Amino acid sequence: MPSLFDQIPQPNLYAWNILIRPDASSPFTPAPLSLALFSRLLLTTTHLPDNFTFPFAIRAASVLPAPRFGAALHAMVFKSPPHSSDVFVLNSLVHFYASCADLNLSFRVFSSIPHKDVVSWNSIITAFSQGGRCDEALELFRQMKDTAHVRPNDVTMVSVLSACAMRGDLDFGRWLHSYIRANDISDSLILNNAILDMYVKCGSLQDAKLLFDQMVDRDSITWTTLLVGYAKSGEFDVSRRLFNEIPSRDIACWNALISGYEQNDRPKDALALFSELKDADERPDQVTLVAALSACAQLGAIDTGCWIHAFIRKNNFHLNFHLTTSLIDMYSKCGELEKAVQVFESVDERDVFVWSAMIGGFAMYGRGRDALGLFLQMQQAGVKPNKVTFTNILCACSHAGLVEEGRSYFSKMLAVYGIAPDVEHYGCMVDILGRAGLLDEARDLIENMPMPSPASAWGALLGSCVVHKDVQLGELACKRLLELEPANDGAYILLSNLYAKSGKWDSVARLRKLMKDRGLKKEPGCSSIQVHGVLYEFLVGDVSHPQSRQIYLKLEEIMKRLKTFGYVPNKTQLLQNIEDEHVKEQALYLHSEKLAIAFGLISTSDRVPIRIAKNMRICEDCHSVAKLVSKIYNREIFLRDRYRFHHFKGGRCSCVDYW
Ligand code: ZN
Ligand code: ZN
Repeated sequence: MPSLFDQIPQPNLYAWNILIRPDASSPFTPAPLSLALFSRLLLTTTHLPDNFTFPFAIRAASVLPAPRFGAALHAMVFKSPPHSSDVFVLNSLVHFYASCADLNLSFRVFSSIPHKDVVSWNSIITAFSQGGRCDEALELFRQMKDTAHVRPNDVTMVSVLSACAMRGDLDFGRWLHSYIRANDISDSLILNNAILDMYVKCGSLQDAKLLFDQMVDRDSITWTTLLVGYAKSGEFDVSRRLFNEIPSRDIACWNALISGYEQNDRPKDALALFSELKDADERPDQVTLVAALSACAQLGAIDTGCWIHAFIRKNNFHLNFHLTTSLIDMYSKCGELEKAVQVFESVDERDVFVWSAMIGGFAMYGRGRDALGLFLQMQQAGVKPNKVTFTNILCACSHAGLVEEGRSYFSKMLAVYGIAPDVEHYGCMVDILGRAGLLDEARDLIENMPMPSPASAWGALLGSCVVHKDVQLGELACKRLLELEPANDGAYILLSNLYAKSGKWDSVARLRKLMKDRGLKKEPGCSSIQVHGVLYEFLVGDVSHPQSRQIYLKLEEIMKRLKTFGYVPNKTQLLQNIEDEHVKEQALYLHSEKLAIAFGLISTSDRVPIRIAKNMRICEDCHSVAKLVSKIYNREIFLRDRYRFHHFKGGRCSCVDYW
């Protein structure tokens, strides 16, 4: 307690109020202190709290938030007219319940206010808007101006714009913009930023750019909002140009572009910008590090990932849940499961995302039992699973072939854990059944889903049909998949693989022609490998690498050597019906992961594991080549494909040829 206060012999209520009023500029200590002082006022004096004391104390309870204390304050207010009808007091209660995420109580208090002012309306509209109930927020806005005839101000409009952005309703957004201009609502930077954000989120970059050009005042939020908008729509050149033009760049600007790249399939650009940031002596924060780690995970860029981890340690960054989750994810995806486990074990506190990331790590490596064991530990630790946890659990069952366990967890999701399976969970379950060869059961599951069956589920079934060579069901799955996603080239590729595997070369040719007619091209297979901190990417038949000649020479040597050990190229992995057997074999050699392996062998010293990330599922032929290389060249190979992890060592793979 403040000692100065104790020196005032008999403080009056005015003095008490000044002390109880929480200081918004320092949100940590003052709020509990306000509440303590409020209690002391009640216990040690004869003063009764007035219509200043209550709102101050309620505001402190909102900041914490302290639900019980706040509810007790509400009860006191209720029993002491005239405060129970004081608009100032009641507005603070509306805000209090919203900050405790109890929108229904918040609305009840709001409804009980006899003479609602603009602050009352703003409090309730903001509550619904921030609580994600945008339709109700917009309806309240309509009532405010049309029924109650209260004039909205800039605060109202910021919340309304945010609700509109959530709905993605561009027409209404444009109307709001003109409403703001027509009604002379103060033209503040915050309001303009909110309009800009609305245009970006509603997908109109033209409107956004127009407004941006008209804005006299701009801050870093203005710049980054527009920059992120362009990044999301794939116009990275414009984003980068905007980034370069920002007059005074703070770390938030860097983060916006790094995350923009990372979240829009440009992980390599994200890491390039991250290294620019290091060169510029700008200090990364938690957000930067999380985004950069995620880019490393996507690319399998272990060197950069380790550098970031060392940086975190050296600079004593607090390992919060986000960073911990990102580190576990990065190490798992870069082939360092043990390091992921070390990070996991080094932290005392774990939230559901940390646990789920570790479960996901085990899942990727086919260590289904470890994943399920961890799931039990997680529940013993009192952490409730969420949707992500179950996706990873089902994924673990799928990769490890644990059919019974998968079925059991899937059925318990809603019944025991209260989590309704979504399309992703159904997709995993279809995968579990399909991989195990229970194709009819998988089909039944898809056809009896409570929601419209998604393309991904049919895709999973099609994949299983390829593995189990079921042409008839495969054709059906492909048809359904294409009905939902006509431009899905992956569907054609899978069906074509299925035909090739079953020796139906006429059908392969027919399919290829169809693809050509429809203008569909196979997504190029791409493998990336990081050597001495530099990331190299290889496409099918890539000759762009400066050491291309040596790489192909090495590849030829590998193939010769492998053949002496009995390797026979698996030509069913080819799409096209090539007549010439020799050409067929050559085409197989060009697969990007083989190029990356050859490059790995010539550019790293003995015993250094080769780490490769591939954007698609690894083919059977490359899988057997990798196994043999791991034995004959005595090199461990870590290969992450789109679905799981393969750790090749001594001629075997961690997936036990089940992928
Ligand atoms: Zn291959
Ligand atoms: Zn494997």
